[in-house]
Amino acid sequence: MAGGGDRCVVGTLHLLLLVAALPRAAWGVSPGAVAWTQEKNYHRPATLNSSSLRRVAEGTNISEMWQNDLRPLLIERYPGSRGSYAARQHIMQRIQRLQADWVLEVDTFLSWTPYGYRSFSNIISTLNPTAKRHLVLACHYDSKYFPEWNNRVFVGATDSAVPCAMMLELARALDKQLLSLKRIPNSQPDLSLQLIFFDGEEAFLHWSPQDSLYGSQHLARKMASTPHPPGATDTNQLHGMDLLVLLDLIGAPNPTFPNFFPNTARWFDRLRAIEHELHELGLLKDHSYERPYFHSNGYGNVIQDDHIPFLNKGVPVLHLISSPFPEVWHTMDDNEENLDETTIDNLNKIIQVFVLEYLHLVPARWRRG
Ligand SMILES: [Zn+2]
Repeated sequence: MAGGGDRCVVGTLHLLLLVAALPRAAWGVSPGAVAWTQEKNYHRPATLNSSSLRRVAEGTNISEMWQNDLRPLLIERYPGSRGSYAARQHIMQRIQRLQADWVLEVDTFLSWTPYGYRSFSNIISTLNPTAKRHLVLACHYDSKYFPEWNNRVFVGATDSAVPCAMMLELARALDKQLLSLKRIPNSQPDLSLQLIFFDGEEAFLHWSPQDSLYGSQHLARKMASTPHPPGATDTNQLHGMDLLVLLDLIGAPNPTFPNFFPNTARWFDRLRAIEHELHELGLLKDHSYERPYFHSNGYGNVIQDDHIPFLNKGVPVLHLISSPFPEVWHTMDDNEENLDETTIDNLNKIIQVFVLEYLHLVPARWRRG
């Protein structure tokens, strides 16, 4: 993630434009009455009742995530490095072993960098690729390039090995429900899930529009020019993104996540509500509701990250980035030792509930009311 001098305030004008783009009468319209590209504006979650919240909390396993998903990612993995190849293989193997029918795609391209042409590879993992709409979770799997220092290498634990591991753990913990996505009749087969692991988020030298966001800039352009659903003449893959949930800088103790965008505030509020409900049920460890992770003290200043190329093309975004940044940000101390397991476990629960509710992957008896 960009930060410090790299943090950039896009500003009020941008937000006003987003507000202006919101639908006038957003509620009370049946989905059949609107174009499919507008359905996301009317989409509502199927909220979980307390026994199902308990099941989700029990179904996720932080030790398993740590050992199997996270540790192999805690290596130097800047674009084009040996570690980058190993991280990519690891992510794909963890997904391929699952039961749900993930379709993996590697989007490899060359881009000019301060060090000449370099190769980058985004990983896109999609359930039901022909479904019109997808909820998208994303993170970057590259680590920032720093020269070795005192025999230490930069492994970017919060930036962003942990978010990648959280996405892998979500796919594992919800595997059965995700498998059911195409089997349950009337389960909204037109809405499914996509995971994106971006390469080249980090600047090689100094953050600038030319030296940063290599993977996301490339993929946003590519998706904008790929017809969707297949064969469509006037809609592309970006129309199919219901909501892009970007995870970054996660894993340090006591994080707070501001909301950045009015047009997705109702989904941010859902995260807040889920955090509250899990807390009330005693399902979050060492968690104080006086200091919630998700808070709503106005809007945060937009931070440059992989969502920007998509945001600029009109995709609704939730940017889940700790702000302020973790203290260890872009230092050799952003490593396993300084991660907070309990916080990560709590966040796994919140985000897994959010995904189930968004996708309506909730048997009727699990629903609230
Ligand atoms: Zn970074």
